[in-house]
Amino acid sequence: MLKVNNISFSYNRALTLKNIDFSISKGECLAIAGESGSGKSTLLKLLYGEYDLNRGFIFWGEHQILGPEFNLIPGPDYMKYVSQEFDLMPFTTVENNIGKFLSNEDLEEKQRRIDELVTVVELEEVAKTKVQYLSGGQKQRVALARALAKEPEILLLDEPFSHIDNLKKQSLRRSLFSYLKEQQITCVVATHDKHDIVSFADTMLFLHQGEAIAFDTPKNLYEHPKNSLIASFFDEFNEFKISEVTASEKFGVVIIYPHEIKLVPSSHLKVRVKQSFFNGDHYLIKADFNHRNIYLKHVESLKEGQQLCLEIDKSIIKKRASIFEDSFEYHRSI
Ligand code: ADP
Ligand code: MG
Repeated sequence: MLKVNNISFSYNRALTLKNIDFSISKGECLAIAGESGSGKSTLLKLLYGEYDLNRGFIFWGEHQILGPEFNLIPGPDYMKYVSQEFDLMPFTTVENNIGKFLSNEDLEEKQRRIDELVTVVELEEVAKTKVQYLSGGQKQRVALARALAKEPEILLLDEPFSHIDNLKKQSLRRSLFSYLKEQQITCVVATHDKHDIVSFADTMLFLHQGEAIAFDTPKNLYEHPKNSLIASFFDEFNEFKISEVTASEKFGVVIIYPHEIKLVPSSHLKVRVKQSFFNGDHYLIKADFNHRNIYLKHVESLKEGQQLCLEIDKSIIKKRASIFEDSFEYHRSI
């Protein structure tokens, strides 16, 4: 089990991470989400023992992870960290890079392992190519395979798909995360892209300005977003005052995703279409509601100026509204 016990850290005076506290079990995949600058990379580096903590502890089972003050070489054997800089050997082949840390005692076994990893990261076509001739995305995949070579117990990944084109990303994610689950490798992935992890992460930790604002399964966070920052990670979203979408005079706001809004022949919730954006299997419709923009999904584009009547399922409002009643959102005006 990875146990992060109330850690704080600062590069200089201000705290970069404040009181981060969570734990995950062996074989689980944790996503660290948050905006740029929220502290995701810093947290990964702390898990790897690259810096000394200001306070708190990190444990992997019985082993305490210590910073440079107590441990000159960061990164215990059981852990591998793939940073955003790949640090590969450019003048040698993909296979040699992946096999760099593998034993030469049994060359047949070594080649079998290299072939297996080349398949996991889908680099069969360039296995014998020198790394200097590869694209950024291919290099990133070599770095992933090399990190897996010696079967780490924990893998730390910093934006692991950032250089890989969309065409390859989907299948690479599926292949990599299935492999990690099969091998029961615990994984911590920092990302700001929901597609990287929503289908794969067991839990997500949301960072905002160095603080953990949520820790839960992706599904729970999506269905019960505690605030607009979390909702925005998943999708476009709308904020309605409770009084706008129910007959109640209650204070507070509810977050409603575009696909949760239905068009109906008549209702008190009237909007006017401003723009339709083609989005593959649907159009995202931007509409004016009391001089603010709201977004909904529709199968066809709609004419600018057209009036629409909207309906939102009561059960959705009820489930979301209860979250906000006591939170800071309560007094927020929109
Ligand atoms: P993220 O990965 O979420 O984008 P980072 O962990 O890289 O965030 O950065 C968190 C904060 O720490 C930022 O304000 C960043 O400027 C600062 N920071 C990152 N690395 C250093 C460093 N080596 N020295 C000083 N400040 C840093
Ligand atoms: Mg980062």
